[in-house]
Amino acid sequence: MSSQAVHCSFGGCSEPASYKIAARWSDGRFAELKTYGFACSDHLGPVFQQAEQRQHEYRPAPNEVVEELAIYRYETGKRDRQLQRLWGLEENYRT
Ligand SMILES: [Zn+2]
Repeated sequence: MSSQAVHCSFGGCSEPASYKIAARWSDGRFAELKTYGFACSDHLGPVFQQAEQRQHEYRPAPNEVVEELAIYRYETGKRDRQLQRLWGLEENYRT
């Protein structure tokens, strides 16, 4: 796998990402993880809250389903389905 680093999405932060904020998305035929952002351990809170805001403002088409936001432990080179979902952390940040 390539070693390209993914960085935190928080403005001005260049730390490598430790977390991925994403939600399962489907249009009825195809499903994937829709990525809302990446965060280092310092900025998980603000990045998650910005993602929530964007999700609230998003108006899905009638055939689209967007599930609740989830936090995954981000590991370079791992596929979406291999990422570990961190349920306990989500509870801390959900508004
Ligand atoms: Zn950061």
